[in-house]
Amino acid sequence: MKIICIGRNYADHAKELNNAVPEKPVWFMKPDTALLKDNQPFYLPDFTTDLHYECEVVLRICKAGKHIGEEFAAQYFDQISLGIDFTARDIQEEKKKKGLPWEEAKAFDGSAVLGQLLPAAEYPFPFEFTLEKNGETVQQGNTVDMLFSPAKVISYVSKFVTLKVGDLIYTGTPAGVGKVNICDRLTGKIGQQILFDFQIK
Ligand code: ZN
Repeated sequence: MKIICIGRNYADHAKELNNAVPEKPVWFMKPDTALLKDNQPFYLPDFTTDLHYECEVVLRICKAGKHIGEEFAAQYFDQISLGIDFTARDIQEEKKKKGLPWEEAKAFDGSAVLGQLLPAAEYPFPFEFTLEKNGETVQQGNTVDMLFSPAKVISYVSKFVTLKVGDLIYTGTPAGVGKVNICDRLTGKIGQQILFDFQIK
């Protein structure tokens, strides 16, 4: 399986990092070794001093497809979740300045936290989601604010790469990203439902 992530999909987040609002979806990938599930702890790597959380709605692909039309995109994911796109912001800033790829900042082991998967049919878009750090809300998003809807994202990305069963799409983060430290606890919720709850070690 592969992990596809959308960057700058909420205008308020693009702004907080001084990025222009994109005209087309910006996307990148993480390898399967990035996946961190079942509320396992995340071990802070020593190559960064500015590790950021980015809470995102995740789509799980249920059908293989290429050149998927927007009008059919809803048939291609059957489960949703929340996840964290961990980002070494210091490394990313350095790469961005030089126009270099982001993998070192984004694709490391454990960088794609995945919460409990829920049936997409029971969570129709749009919906609100929140991230708590140590019990305090630090990110509050609503999928209605996505610049590119799940249908647009699936249609666009599938022009370039074939989507396969089990692939995950991280749909971008709203404003409020920030640093994590050892002992922090991150909790992701849709409404009152907790999808992930784990510790930084
Ligand atoms: Zn992200």
